[in-house]
Parts: sequence; structure tokens; C-alpha cells
Amino acid sequence: MSERVIPLIDQRLQTRAVPIPAQAIAATGQLRDARGRALRDLRISVTDRCNFRCSYCMPKEIFDKDYQYLPHSALLTFEEITRVAKVFVAHGVQKLRLTGGEPLLRKHLEILIEQLAALRTVDGAPLDITLTTNGSLLRRKAQALKDAGLQRVTVSLDGLDDAVFRAMNDVDFPVADVLDGIAAAQAVGLGPIKVNMVVKRGTNDDQILPMARHFKGSGVVLRFIEYMDVGATNGWRMDEVLPSAKVIERIHREMPLVPLEQAAEGETAQRWAYADGSGEIGVISSVTQAFCSDCNRARLSTEGQLYLCLFASEGHDLRHLIRGDASDEDLASAIASVWQPRADRYSELRASLPPDSTPGKRRVEMSYIGG
Ligand code: SF4
Repeated sequence: MSERVIPLIDQRLQTRAVPIPAQAIAATGQLRDARGRALRDLRISVTDRCNFRCSYCMPKEIFDKDYQYLPHSALLTFEEITRVAKVFVAHGVQKLRLTGGEPLLRKHLEILIEQLAALRTVDGAPLDITLTTNGSLLRRKAQALKDAGLQRVTVSLDGLDDAVFRAMNDVDFPVADVLDGIAAAQAVGLGPIKVNMVVKRGTNDDQILPMARHFKGSGVVLRFIEYMDVGATNGWRMDEVLPSAKVIERIHREMPLVPLEQAAEGETAQRWAYADGSGEIGVISSVTQAFCSDCNRARLSTEGQLYLCLFASEGHDLRHLIRGDASDEDLASAIASVWQPRADRYSELRASLPPDSTPGKRRVEMSYIGG
């Protein structure tokens, strides 16, 4: 069956330069949006490049050899990222997630992690610093990441069978090497490790049970993500979504599960424990069980565009302030002026529409702002 691929309009250009508000808005650590949602979690994309071509994120037909990646000069430097992260922390951010593309492709990433690890929350506590990776470089980098101050990692792995893995990620990369990366991260103490599996009905849903069996009792938390209409290039269709309720049903039949409480406000995963006490799994159900009501996540693209939702259509340019003569107080005001009116709730809106129709304008690519 031929993949439907929709040409890419460069969303990276759909941005608005954020002005410094006339009325200063001080950072109090309690910034809230129009729905009362706090700003607690900042996802920082450190590169728009990746060495995989996951069909649901970066289809090869679009992100081919002629695709124009951002020039290095356009990317925020580590010092610029640390400066803007510090301002977000002053607004109440407690968790930083490094993403991409594939973040481990950004050279010397340990230097950035060291800088971020020195920051403290408004209450003086260390930040929760984590990273999402496809695991391809993890075996080599695990120790250095840990030494630099990284606490945890989330590894994307969409199957154990090499052929299925290839069908999802369109690269000739052996599953065994990703598993070695996970083992190396566990060995150096980058845990608890989470493994994220995107479930696409008819492509890799036969891997649900093998993955559950493999990670059960290993200390790794396996999460199943509903296939999402992120970006505008993956040709998403509702009939390729396997609802999380079905995933739980399949596992429960063989390995009984009991529901767990949410671990933190804004957590995206619904948690389930194995009834025999051998660990937990999670499901992330953006399509069938929207979780926008307590969404406390902001996303910063690799060249300093602020996005308020994974399914946003427009970015808010902070780089012109970071590279201009704006003070940290100006930057704090500008960020607050973008977050305070935020009312994003894409998944809730999608749920109210007929299947296969998606709300709003063209969405930014996930590979550009991180998952
Ligand atoms: S759809 Fe947007 S607002 Fe809703 S949970 Fe996801 S990122 Fe948050």
C-alpha cells in the first residue's frame, strides 16, 4: 500500500517575533495560562536532524537528501539555551526535557547538560533533567550524559522484530543496538528508564505483547503511545490508531494489570501496574483520551521559537530577544505575555470532530519541536 505523503510547507517560517511588553511581567514562579495551567515542563529541541526516518514523524519521502536543515548559526548556542531555560525556571518550570530530531546528534551535548544541571527551581531544588532519544547513540554516550548531570532517559522503540522496527523507522538499524543502549543507560543509573512505543494499527501492533513480555520485571517502564496526527506529513488516518483501551485489554488478558494514580500534575501517561508486582506500564492516549486540561508543557525549537502545543501552527520567536539587547527581565515578560493567554487544547478539539478530520491550521512538525 503506497504511503500517502503530503508536501511540507515550511512551518518553521510561521512565527511571530515576540515584543517586550510595555508593562513588565515579573517572574514569580507561578505563571499560569488562560485555563489556569501552570508552566512546569519545558521541552527543548537541540537539533532538527535525526538519523532515523520514523514514518509517523519524519517520513523519508519528505525529509530526503534534498531537505534543507537549519544552518548551525541558526541554532541557539548552549549558553543561549541555558539563559532562556533559566528564565523559564524563574516562571515555575521544574522539568527540562531535551529532544530533537535526535538530541544525541548535537555535538558535545554534555556541556549543555552540565550548564542546565547547575540551575535550581524557584524553591532551590535541582531540576528534573531528562532526554528523549531513539537510542542509536546511547550505548556510547550513557556514561558521559550521566556524569554531566542527566538524571533519566526516555528511549523510543517501536518493536523488537527487526523487520517491524524497520517498517516503522525506515532505517536499517538493528533493534539489538537500541536494547544495548537501554542496558548501558540502566548500568550507569540513568533511570527509571522509560521506553516509548508508538502503536500503529496494522504495522506494529503485533509487537505489543512481545514488548510487554520483554520489559516486564526489568525496571524499565514501557509506554504505548497512540499514533497521532502530529505535523502535516505523516498521512495520519484514524483507522490506523489502536485505542489505548485495546492495548490494555490485550496485555491484561495475559499479564493482569491494575490502574495506578497519576504520579504528577500534567503527566501524559495513564499508569498501570502488573498485578504480580513486577513493574508498570503506561499508555499515552492523545487521540482517544485527551489530557489537555492540565497540560503544563511548553516547547522551544532549536532556533528559539516558543510553541504552546505539540499541534501548534505558529511559533513565537524569542531568539531576536535572546540575541538582541533584551534583559532577562524583558525575556521573562515576553515569555509571560505568550503563556498567559494560552488556551491550546488541540486533542480535546480533535475529539469533538468526525474521524480523520483535524482542527485548525497546518501543524508544525514534531521533528522540529520534539515530542
Ligand atoms: S494537545 Fe496540546 S494542549 Fe493538549 S495536551 Fe497536547 S500539547 Fe497539551
